[in-house]
Amino acid sequence: MSVDTHLAFDSPRVHIGLDFDGVLCDIHGYATKHIQENHAPDFTRNDIEWDGSIPNTDLTMGDIMWEFAGDPDVLTETNPVPGAIKHANWLANHPFADPIIVTHRPPEIHDNIEKWLARHGFPDIELPSNIPDNKTNADTSFDVLIDDYHKHVLDAVNDGSHGIHFTGAWESTTLNHPDTYSVSSWTQLRELLETSLKQLE
Ligand SMILES: [Mg+2]
Repeated sequence: MSVDTHLAFDSPRVHIGLDFDGVLCDIHGYATKHIQENHAPDFTRNDIEWDGSIPNTDLTMGDIMWEFAGDPDVLTETNPVPGAIKHANWLANHPFADPIIVTHRPPEIHDNIEKWLARHGFPDIELPSNIPDNKTNADTSFDVLIDDYHKHVLDAVNDGSHGIHFTGAWESTTLNHPDTYSVSSWTQLRELLETSLKQLE
């Protein structure tokens, strides 16, 4: 990604969908430890196949994530993705940006998510409970979705949004689509968003 790469937004107020698990919360760090302790001792994040399957097990990252999604105790033990707190604060205070959190975690634990965010020093970001299964913007409108799962990024793009694939967590799938971009860290994400939002000045 070069520094002059940017997403073309036409609205002066850009609605930005931030995926919770994998972009804000390092659930994958927690999942890695869980897989090593319970399923495959030599497992590392780099071993995950393009479709999410975990070698030497009959599990996928999706299975593991789903097991954890509704468990408030797991949430307590997870840490933020590096850089997420600092740059999410920048984003929440940006005059052209309107971030929302996009998660499939069940509404019963949204309170726990909000407490987790506050405890770690995240800004107060809206957390809607009506996210459709494919995370398109059908029910919750956003101009760009930032997600660590390639399928959600593509679904959002096919539904008319931009998509940013956050590959820092575990994904190495390459997306070839003119409306998707890949970043591997919050530093790169900040650079891409900053350049893109600047076009609106
Ligand atoms: Mg995710």
